[in-house]
Amino acid sequence: MSTIAEALAHVRDRIARAAIACSRNPEDIKLIAVSKTKPETAVREAYKAGQRAFGENYAQELAQKADHLTDLADIEWHYIGHLQSNKAKYVARAAHVLHALDSPSLVRELGKRLAQKDENGNMRGPLPVLIEVNVGAEPQKHGVSPANLGPLLEAVDHEPTLKLRGLMTMPPQDLENARRAFEALVSLRNLHGGQTRLPELSMGMSEDLEIAIACGATMVRVGSAIFGARE
Ligand SMILES: *Cc1c(COP(=O)(O)O)cnc(C)c1O
Repeated sequence: MSTIAEALAHVRDRIARAAIACSRNPEDIKLIAVSKTKPETAVREAYKAGQRAFGENYAQELAQKADHLTDLADIEWHYIGHLQSNKAKYVARAAHVLHALDSPSLVRELGKRLAQKDENGNMRGPLPVLIEVNVGAEPQKHGVSPANLGPLLEAVDHEPTLKLRGLMTMPPQDLENARRAFEALVSLRNLHGGQTRLPELSMGMSEDLEIAIACGATMVRVGSAIFGARE
């Protein structure tokens, strides 16, 4: 068993090697340490090892961890899971980046929540968002279908409390199909305004981050390779 600090160093090394292998700058790839289901002590340990961006996919767990870890000043919370409208308030309050926006109704709900002042009477700035795309339009998966992506991007553009940053996808498990999904996401980005409009691509996890980086990922979401297997 390696420590979290050792595992993090290993993942950072994988990212650097993958970037260099395709002539990219490793600093252009952001590592999101996916701490879902893991205790706050694990987040603290990773933070101490220099990690700042953390990913959660249960809205209440995100809000609770954010509340308990306010002493970690520059920590950055990424909400990466499917979000139900009735949980939007937690994400509006605690997340710094939302990766999996996938419906116009969620755009409206977040807009409503984000337009409210916080407990100190302050407005927060626009929330950076990525749109989750179900590139294969698989019925069992979350995410907007490629056909509905254009209108959803426009809805985000018209919502002043949200700031459109890019696209995200959940790849299939086998690596060959994962590569196809990443390539499909890149094509969709090119179809809908390219890097200027959609600078971020959130794709790649513990098993497939090298492939995602070769395809152009700017964010990789890595859980088990850092924190160990989840129950
Ligand atoms: C859990 C999760 C991850 C991390 O998966 P690992 O295989 O543990 O790296 C990435 N993205 C999302 C959306 C997740 O829910």
